[in-house]
Amino acid sequence: MRFSRILPAALACALLPLMASAQDTTVLRGARLIDGSANAPLDNAVLVIRDGRIAAVGAAESVDVPADATVIDYRGKTLMPGLISTHSHVGIASGLEVGPEQHTRENILRQLRQYTAYGVTTVTALGLNGAVFYDVRAAVHSGREPGADLFGADRGIGVPDGAPPASALPLGPDQVYRTQNVAAAREAIREMAARKTDLVKLWLDGFGGTAPKLDPDVYRAAIEEAHAQGLRVAVHIHDLDDAKAVVRAGADIIAHGVRDRPVDEEFIALLKQNDVWYVPTLALDEATFVYAEQPAWMQTEFFANAVHPEVRARMADPEWQRTTLEDPRAAAARRALATNQRNLKTLHEAGVKIAFGTDSGANPFRIPGVAEHRELALMVEAGLTPLEAIRIATANSAALLELEDRGRLAPGLSADLVVLDGDPTADIAASTRIVGVWHRGRPVERERFGH
Ligand SMILES: [Zn+2]
Repeated sequence: MRFSRILPAALACALLPLMASAQDTTVLRGARLIDGSANAPLDNAVLVIRDGRIAAVGAAESVDVPADATVIDYRGKTLMPGLISTHSHVGIASGLEVGPEQHTRENILRQLRQYTAYGVTTVTALGLNGAVFYDVRAAVHSGREPGADLFGADRGIGVPDGAPPASALPLGPDQVYRTQNVAAAREAIREMAARKTDLVKLWLDGFGGTAPKLDPDVYRAAIEEAHAQGLRVAVHIHDLDDAKAVVRAGADIIAHGVRDRPVDEEFIALLKQNDVWYVPTLALDEATFVYAEQPAWMQTEFFANAVHPEVRARMADPEWQRTTLEDPRAAAARRALATNQRNLKTLHEAGVKIAFGTDSGANPFRIPGVAEHRELALMVEAGLTPLEAIRIATANSAALLELEDRGRLAPGLSADLVVLDGDPTADIAASTRIVGVWHRGRPVERERFGH
């Protein structure tokens, strides 16, 4: 018989990979626990991990600690569920390079390891996925490769000479469909269904009248065909009228916030009557200007470790900072962010289902892991409480993905959790003070990503 081994938090992540075997029981005790539901945080919690899952969780006096367990003391820390992104992209960028040559197994796996190191344990690549996606998805589903679990929306359907914009986002021929033809759209949906995509993605955005938009007959047919194939549809929108139109056509997920004007009662009623998910992606517009402003949080180890040296050098270049801030796109992004935040607050208060996404990975400045913690901060800035923001990023997003095995710290669920130094309910910035991440009951190795 073995005796309990008690490890201080500082040693746990260094030693545990060497000690733990799959059959071991690990107990995390002493921390404040945010379970991802509407429950208030629990102080001095005990969480028991066995076989990658949460075996028990509760107050110290109510949970038995198995005699042979490895016990980790997390007093003064906070536990929360691993974050779940319902809108990211993988294998699009590496450093400042963007293009189909970045769409490799190696680059995608590296990004998925970066996500887990930053506490994002499940990632949805919402379109722009080539054939390599399915190989990587199988590898991380099975645990053969480390990194965030991966779901996705195959290629998705955009428009010839329209969204997603080929100039900003060069893609390989197997990464996106572009059509304005009903029959071709239906065929694309059937091809994606045959490859066992998790979701379907459509783009509906005319970029302020500068590009052709997906034809209504095409998106209606695509949504109808997807539903016939048992697939749900997420739609990229920017404007309120487009968002209403796709909800009327049967869209299941609005994949960005409405950013042209305030939402109205009609939109709220449409979302609620049709049980549609709404994913604001606030961090997307912030990333257009914030790095040129050099906010204090860019000086943290948390940030530096996530950023490729080429990107860091670009951000530090005064000429780049000046031109970025003078570019009319910076002012437009500020307005879009403010509108998106106001709309989030309105829709959340109205009881619309909100999930978590950032569009991280879609360009070099939408940094995997960093974007998700910016999104939490921006949701709180919009007027949500930290607990509401965390719930959206965990339990709600698991519900969007119809994943019943994760998203909360509750018995039977996957032991995906983040250990924080400090309390994000008091200050959401504590979400970035990560002292450890557990994925499927194992501590995640905290490698350096920024080189
Ligand atoms: Zn996207």
